[in-house]
Amino acid sequence: MREVIVIGAGASGLVTAIVSARKGKKVLILEKNNKVGKKLLATGNGKCNITNQRPTLERFHSSNPQFIKEVFEGYSYQTVKQFFKSIGLELIEAKEGKVFPMSLQASCVVDLLVAECEELGVKIECEIEVQKIKKVKSFYEITHNKGVEKTKALVISTGHLSAPQLGGVDVGVSFAKSLGHTIIKPFPTLVQLTSPIKNLERMAGVKVESRVTLKTKAGKTIQKQGDILFTSYGISGLAILDISRFVMVELFTKKTLVLTIDLIPKMSQQQLLALMRKSLVKKSSKPLTIWLQGFINKKLILPILEPLNLQNETVSSIFLNKKHLEEIVYKIKNFNFEVNGSRGYKGAEVATGGVNTKEINPKTMESKKHKGLYFTGEVLDIDGDRGGFNLHFAWVCGLRAGEEI
Ligand SMILES: Cc1cc2nc3c(=O)[nH]c(=O)nc-3n(C[C@H](O)[C@H](O)[C@H](O)COP(=O)(O)OP(=O)(O)OC[C@H]3O[C@@H](n4cnc5c(N)ncnc54)[C@H](O)[C@@H]3O)c2cc1C
Repeated sequence: MREVIVIGAGASGLVTAIVSARKGKKVLILEKNNKVGKKLLATGNGKCNITNQRPTLERFHSSNPQFIKEVFEGYSYQTVKQFFKSIGLELIEAKEGKVFPMSLQASCVVDLLVAECEELGVKIECEIEVQKIKKVKSFYEITHNKGVEKTKALVISTGHLSAPQLGGVDVGVSFAKSLGHTIIKPFPTLVQLTSPIKNLERMAGVKVESRVTLKTKAGKTIQKQGDILFTSYGISGLAILDISRFVMVELFTKKTLVLTIDLIPKMSQQQLLALMRKSLVKKSSKPLTIWLQGFINKKLILPILEPLNLQNETVSSIFLNKKHLEEIVYKIKNFNFEVNGSRGYKGAEVATGGVNTKEINPKTMESKKHKGLYFTGEVLDIDGDRGGFNLHFAWVCGLRAGEEI
């Protein structure tokens, strides 16, 4: 019989193991991959946006908002920072409250977590894939590809469906279901969006700083600002990842929807109009498609002009018809882009949904249905915004579970 078993050597599993081992517990981690923390290594483009200085409640989403409130009570950014200091990892603060390891290397985070495990005698066994969990009287029987283990304290830290190429699976949800837990249906988030628009190739590769607006059917206006990237399948970029959760919710009841993109958010409509007016020349026969290159990426010009039927006009014709210039400016500030879905879990940083948090104690991460059974991290029905919030939740879960076990 093992004292504590953690399934999954990812973010939350490693912290759970460390905190529990510091209390003198003998911990075994079972990991299906051939190395530890594969997803962690890919975070923040390899730099690991490890947490955020301002983990306010509205940055997290769950079908049970009360859980969000309770799980973070008393566990701030400083708590997480202190934990990392205790394993020798210094953090640096960047813009928008984002926090990174001082080395700017996700691999340093993994190495230090593993080194701490080793120092504390935590045993990590890789290439062990847990297949089945059975409750037998007061203990759990864990069947994996190389045998069977037993424990009275079992932690399910198996993550969720996002990034299957890095090991993302929903097996934790299946284990929870088999033990009588209910599941909130997942969908991919922080994900690129697909589009039914034809000829997307002609805009592909264009990256612009923009403001993206979504009007929800409930009458809310959601806006996100940042880079967007037009691609051959649809649209990507930071502003798109940020708005993707809201888009996905709208697409539950609609086949397609339109995002409105301000392609020059740093200028008001009036400022842009004034700037363009100044450069109009009365007798110029220059094609509009050339003249507009003075203001905007050339690959966006036809998608802007064609819906207005102005693609064959010249500068002088626009000079004579002021209304046309206003239409062009309006289109640049309100560029409509139709979307119809996402790139799926393969492109997603996070999966929403998971084990129903109403069935989990937010102070200990223990199941309210089974003593000695704990869930941590993305397997639970809580997801965060981009900016270090998802890892923040994983660390907090690990700290809480580890302190309890
Ligand atoms: C590309 C990418 C970039 C990201 N960047 C950031 C970022 O910068 N900041 C941020 O806050 N969040 C980021 N995230 C999200 C963040 O990585 C996750 O939310 C976080 O890792 C979840 O932690 P976890 O402990 O729940 O699971 P994970 O870290 O996913 O770990 C789960 C572990 O369980 C193992 N496992 C699964 N099933 C079994 C089984 N049957 N038997 C044994 N082992 C099993 C898996 O192999 C895995 O190692 C990113 C995600 C992706 C995909």
